[in-house]
Amino acid sequence: MGDAIDRPRIEAAVRELLLAIGEDPERPGLERTPERVAESFGELFAGLAADPVAALGEPVPLGTTDAGGATTSDTVIVRDLAFRSVCEHHLLPFLGTAHVAYVPDGRVVGLGRIPAAIDVLAARPQLQERLADEIADALEAALAPRGVLVVLEAAHGCVTSRGARQSQSSTVTVVARGLLAEPARRAEAITLIGGRADA
Ligand code: ZN
Repeated sequence: MGDAIDRPRIEAAVRELLLAIGEDPERPGLERTPERVAESFGELFAGLAADPVAALGEPVPLGTTDAGGATTSDTVIVRDLAFRSVCEHHLLPFLGTAHVAYVPDGRVVGLGRIPAAIDVLAARPQLQERLADEIADALEAALAPRGVLVVLEAAHGCVTSRGARQSQSSTVTVVARGLLAEPARRAEAITLIGGRADA
């Protein structure tokens, strides 16, 4: 995986930021801050150099049942996946939980692959709304499922820690496509997820 992040440049910019707020970047407490920020940016934005569809791995066929019939797994739901991202408007973190449901069309991905793909997409400057769409896009690209539903619930640093300081507020976004966009299926999937999103 290529390291596209220019750490010396981040360090120089952080020194500038510290000067711009009237701080002394040379004082002992701040001396190593540019280096630490560059290090943490490397982690927070590692997803820029990675491919979410590759993270989903090779899909595997659902196969057949012991009786010889085709396996017809209806809906696969992976819920309560913690994620961490950075809001692209303020470069402040947002933390939350993702729930993903899909209706396979003969193929599935390994269950551990879905959080890996979410990690890739979340480790970029993001908007919660776009993150939900991009998770759905990756699943569609990897699997062409018959339906996909992504629910994200997150608390945003830019809302909880600044401005009106709504420390308890969270934001819910829902993306529903294909079969899971049908009102009854969507409502059922959201109930199974146990989310608070309105159907
Ligand atoms: Zn923000």
